[in-house]
Amino acid sequence: MTKEYSLDVPKPRHFTFAVRDLADVTVEQRERALKATHYNEFAFPSGLLTVDMLSDSGTTAMTNTQWASLFYGDEAYGRNTGYYVLLDTFRDIFERKGEKNWKKIVDLVRTDCRDVEKMMDEVYLCEYEGGLFNAGASQMERPNSFIIQQGRAAESVLMEIVRNILNERHPGKVFTIPSNGHFDTTEGNIKQMGSIPRNLYNKEILYEIPEGGKYEKNPFKGNMDIEKLEKLIEKLGPENVPLVFTTITNNTVCGQPVSLGNIKEINRVAHKYNIPLIFDAARWAENAYFIKMNEEGYSDKSIAEITSEMFSYCDGFCMSAKKDGHANMGGMLAFRDKGLFWKNFSDFNEDGSLKMDVGVRIKVKQISSYGNDSYGGMSGRDIMALSVGLYESCNFNYMDERVKQCEYLAQGFYKSGVKGVVLPAGGHAVYINMDEFFDGKRSHESFAGQGFSLELIRRYGIRVAELGDFSMEYDLKTPEQQAELANVVRFAVDRSRLTKEHLDYVIAAVKQLYEDRESIPNMRIVWGKNLPMRHFHAFLEPYPNNK
Ligand SMILES: *Cc1c(COP(=O)(O)O)cnc(C)c1O
Repeated sequence: MTKEYSLDVPKPRHFTFAVRDLADVTVEQRERALKATHYNEFAFPSGLLTVDMLSDSGTTAMTNTQWASLFYGDEAYGRNTGYYVLLDTFRDIFERKGEKNWKKIVDLVRTDCRDVEKMMDEVYLCEYEGGLFNAGASQMERPNSFIIQQGRAAESVLMEIVRNILNERHPGKVFTIPSNGHFDTTEGNIKQMGSIPRNLYNKEILYEIPEGGKYEKNPFKGNMDIEKLEKLIEKLGPENVPLVFTTITNNTVCGQPVSLGNIKEINRVAHKYNIPLIFDAARWAENAYFIKMNEEGYSDKSIAEITSEMFSYCDGFCMSAKKDGHANMGGMLAFRDKGLFWKNFSDFNEDGSLKMDVGVRIKVKQISSYGNDSYGGMSGRDIMALSVGLYESCNFNYMDERVKQCEYLAQGFYKSGVKGVVLPAGGHAVYINMDEFFDGKRSHESFAGQGFSLELIRRYGIRVAELGDFSMEYDLKTPEQQAELANVVRFAVDRSRLTKEHLDYVIAAVKQLYEDRESIPNMRIVWGKNLPMRHFHAFLEPYPNNK
């Protein structure tokens, strides 16, 4: 037994030793900037903000160990050392079933190992096949893992290749890709390939709040609604559903986790119909943390052990490595060697021999658009920082602190009487349901959630992300899709960057704005209404909410 004096406040887990000062900006100055940037919050200068919670993507404060690792970056064009390190980091965490089996070749590089034989045997010339990350000759022959600089690039490569293959086989046919919740760029990529995205989660459960605002255990509100999935596949016919997506954690559905039980069920249903299951794995570590803390049978397992179990159920994944506090830049696309994705999308001759490997098609796209497979759009130093960051995300204390910061913010809103807070908080952010916040008084076409976001910028210099009616394009959707849309704004909490003071400032601001919510303007789109992913470029304008 270790000895500890227990206190009723959380124990600090890190301290700060680099500081950036914030500018003192007036309301008038922010008003001028809002007008000049046509009320598009993505275009608002970050240098004029007090608290920026637009995204946790790539905004992590890196650790001293990550900063130090930059110096071990190898910028070589062909087979830079970081290539081996990064792929083996993924094998360690996603496949080797826990820390005790880790090889951690990153340490050989960080200690500048000069034993050439050892480096050849353990780093440069390893052969792996059959998993998500081939190595050596099998990666050359059947490429299945692709470093790409960020999640959406991985999605767009995947979606483009899948579309080309489907078009060759069934010209002009429209396909549907269901998910527990597609991210906005994933939806954008699916639509650009002419397919239909569907979000099959349970909205009633999402907005349910227990007495007092606290659940005993996280209820995994990000789960796929298995019944809806099975019904959809049956209705459309499995031949019209080329992929099933699962986002862990479910960012669009308020950053809510997905249980391992649910992952197994999604796998079972998808495989019953011979459909590959693809993870959108931006926040795998948070998801593993929630499983450890809340799912029966996992409390003794580490984040890494749970991660390996989660990934044993997917046929492939796209990943933004800018989340979970991994690093400021990075991404990955991978599929299981000779698995269901490979079988369904490769072309075979009549005698069963391989005609065209889907991995080769992906690699050609990667090389022509992003870079040689050794770096795929990342610099060597970014690759090293990412490898180190991936290991750090398996650290329970770090993840615990991160998730509890989100819960602190959510509870702060709730206790201030703000309506519509989604509880429990997700792993990377807190969400407020705008329909409830405005007492159901604002129509879906009023984009009042965007009005709320912009008013937070104008009054207090706080930027959040509207992920509801405006960004998710309520007005452009079918009634079926409209019913699947959660009209929320997101307060992203990035790794180790915000302090309790930031969160208290945000809580006080939202409380004040809530009490004055009648005065929040509606917004109208004055330019770019039909542009793909319009929230990144449209011009908006406030208009009085009584018109
Ligand atoms: C951020 C994110 C993406 C896109 O990744 P980028 O690295 O920002 O391009 C995809 N899916 C989810 C769930 C995300 O959160």
